[in-house]
Amino acid sequence: MRFIASGWLTCASRSRFHAYAILFLMTARILDGIKIRDEIFAELKGEVAQMTAQGIRPGLAAVLVGENAASQLYVKSKIAACEQLGLASWLHSPPANVSTEYMLRLVADLNNDDKVDGILVQLPLPSQVDSKRVLEAVSPAKDVDGFHPVSMGMLVSNRPGLVACTPAGCMEILRRNNINIEGANAVVLGRSDIVGKPMALLLLHANATVTICHSKSRDLHEIIRRAEILVAAIGRAGFVQPDWIKAGAAVIDVGTNKVTDAAEANRLLGNFPQRLEKFRAKGNVLIGDVHPDAVNTAGALTPVPGGVGPMTITMLMSNTVKAAKLRRLSGRFQPASVAR
Ligand code: NAP
Repeated sequence: MRFIASGWLTCASRSRFHAYAILFLMTARILDGIKIRDEIFAELKGEVAQMTAQGIRPGLAAVLVGENAASQLYVKSKIAACEQLGLASWLHSPPANVSTEYMLRLVADLNNDDKVDGILVQLPLPSQVDSKRVLEAVSPAKDVDGFHPVSMGMLVSNRPGLVACTPAGCMEILRRNNINIEGANAVVLGRSDIVGKPMALLLLHANATVTICHSKSRDLHEIIRRAEILVAAIGRAGFVQPDWIKAGAAVIDVGTNKVTDAAEANRLLGNFPQRLEKFRAKGNVLIGDVHPDAVNTAGALTPVPGGVGPMTITMLMSNTVKAAKLRRLSGRFQPASVAR
């Protein structure tokens, strides 16, 4: 609902009206990732219980090399999600000086272990390890991150397979909020292998008209202004300005940028005094790639944090269950048999 100030208001009521108008102008529907995570978790929990009753307990093996604090935190939350859903999980933690050969042997063992449905190699790996070789050694049938070239190839040719978790999560957000994709002008900002490219392909296969932008794109704001669906994944805090967004557009903000500079926080959060207060207390704040004031121009918007973030782990769990179903329930070991 949007208001336009009109002449019949008295001065006092006009200022009150102004305050209300600001409230009503903040009309973007918030696309709550935590709510969708909870919905999907409830669905997965039921499926896992059913499969376990049939003697097939889906399981995820995580490989965490060394002692990178952020990686430890990510892996811990992935294992916790497995436990919450009743999935089996295993943690392998080779030391930081591990060799490529050791990693390849470990991945081969996990490929051959029938109880393991998904293999997660937490990145980054230490510099002496050939990350590409290790990731490509993961069986495509257990590639729950969706990074394997076979998984990417399946996606390009629109055949069923395991899809990278973050873009798959963005699609769940759009679909579960009934945002029309077919025929929509969709702009994907960013072209990385793990977010931008698979995101663009998923939107294309859902019949959107897709434009992919990157750091060399010209007239970016003009392109963004035409988007009915905008997915921003560039890693630049508050880059997309509110007035670049088409009124009513659905905006999926993938960016997670930790802002520590007070001037930048003030610039981005001028209209969010409570968040600024938290920044002052904590010394940092998480900001997406879209300026927070876009809440006044977008029709629907994922918050940061609490939008796309929770969906990445959710889709990892979903991919693990999917991989288990098709490899073990259908008796096939082909990525092509994994339903998307
Ligand atoms: P990335 O590999 O660094 O790729 C960034 C992409 O953005 C590149 O394609 C780059 O273009 C483009 N880009 C950079 N600056 C730009 C600019 N000024 N204008 C237009 N395009 C620009 O990043 P990523 O891994 O895709 O991640 C993107 C963001 O999403 C990061 O903030 C990351 O933290 C976040 N993320 C969040 C989750 C989650 O779970 N919420 C998961 C993954 C990533 P070029 O190709 O031309 O260099």
